[in-house]
Amino acid sequence: MNFKAHVSVGIAGGYILYGLTKSFPVFTFPDAELIAPIGCVIGSVIPDIDSPNSRVGKALKPISKTIEILSKPFHKTEENHRGIFHDLGLAIIFAVLSYFYFPAFFGFFLGVTSHLILDAMNPSGVPFLLFKKVHLLPYNVKLYSGSSGATALSFLIATLMIGGYIMLYKI
Ligand SMILES: [Zn+2]
Repeated sequence: MNFKAHVSVGIAGGYILYGLTKSFPVFTFPDAELIAPIGCVIGSVIPDIDSPNSRVGKALKPISKTIEILSKPFHKTEENHRGIFHDLGLAIIFAVLSYFYFPAFFGFFLGVTSHLILDAMNPSGVPFLLFKKVHLLPYNVKLYSGSSGATALSFLIATLMIGGYIMLYKI
């Protein structure tokens, strides 16, 4: 998926986290209602740091280039850049662990997880616990990253997330 797609779902997740941290004692660390949503938005775009051609990769070029060099022996470069930074299984584990042990990072890993769920809808899928690949759509549905269909689906998901949250908790 592209930057716009990821950031729209990241903002929707951040909005929900903001509401939940304000309404319920979800986290007890200081400024949780700010740190959790901001972390979610940053996390929603950060996995593409493994590609120097992505918007995040271009913004953080030295880090992105270093990751690219380190990834070469694992053949995770360019179109096939989705390696450890795109591992959905690892992201879920980190999200669960952070919820219990490092709550300040929970929003961030939730954002990372949202990125990987969206990327798993592309035909190339994402790795799961280093070996397996996951695709969330059938193989014959070709929703390519950066296509208008992919962006539209992401906007729809973001809208449903915010709409669903408002219906559940605000009305
Ligand atoms: Zn990605």
